[in-house]
Amino acid sequence: MKDLFELEGKVAIVTGGNRGIGKAIARGFATMGVNLILVARDSVKTAEAAQEVRNEFGIRVLAVKVDVQQEQEINTMVAEALDAFGRIDILVNNAGGNIRKMPQDYLIAEWDEVLNTNLRSAFLCSKAVYPAMKETGSGKVINIGSMTSIFGGAKLAPYGASKGGILQLTRSLAVAWAPDNIQVNAILPGWINTDLTAQARKEIPGLNERVLARTPVGRWGNPDDLTGSAIFLASHASDFITGVALPVDGGYSIMT
Ligand code: NDP
Repeated sequence: MKDLFELEGKVAIVTGGNRGIGKAIARGFATMGVNLILVARDSVKTAEAAQEVRNEFGIRVLAVKVDVQQEQEINTMVAEALDAFGRIDILVNNAGGNIRKMPQDYLIAEWDEVLNTNLRSAFLCSKAVYPAMKETGSGKVINIGSMTSIFGGAKLAPYGASKGGILQLTRSLAVAWAPDNIQVNAILPGWINTDLTAQARKEIPGLNERVLARTPVGRWGNPDDLTGSAIFLASHASDFITGVALPVDGGYSIMT
């Protein structure tokens, strides 16, 4: 039974791994002995996060400065990861951001920024790691969706489109790569306390109260609430699970 969750010595790329949900997932992997490639734009913060897990868990960590909107930077990062570790077992497509406006007010550059950061990046990173996973004969891709993969919101046109797209990308990659023993799944976080939602709390009056009222467990999630599902979807315990979207939301998505 213990082997089901054995991850010692595996190698994981976590985009947006320097804070929030990505950092919590990376730390969760580190507790299991997974070596890490942490990817984000703020290189100081990423180096700090890398040092933190290195010191705490004694694993190998590569911190790479990447803007996931840039295909070339993604491809270079994957090449560096392969140089350093020789394999990639797990990819977490977590980097993301939001620009909140009414649909009619978006500039096309803002639409592109949200779609490219949240959705196109997941496609590009998955495409970049595929040859290495195929060669190893196994792989796990975990895409971070959102409640807006399911629900709409007035000021969420590009964000919701990107997170809805993440679901369909997950399903298509899952079907395409099942013969290669690569499982592709999504996690749909509910409302989680991070920098991203701190901004939303500032911008949306009454958000805190509405989240508490709508979430059956009666609290916001913490980034650490995502680690168990990520470890499960990265491990042999989920080898016959592919193309699913797992809500980690304190019951938000089943509340009437
Ligand atoms: P944070 O704002 O705390 O973290 C976002 C992360 O993404 C940072 O590490 C940031 O690093 C990185 N990032 C953003 N843009 C880029 C870019 N262009 N290139 C590389 N890295 C980038 O957000 P959360 O932790 O809250 O969110 C993480 C994921 O979870 C996102 O996909 C988000 O949509 C999703 N999510 C979050 C929810 C929540 O309640 N918090 C709910 C549902 C989904 P840097 O700025 O250094 O580049």
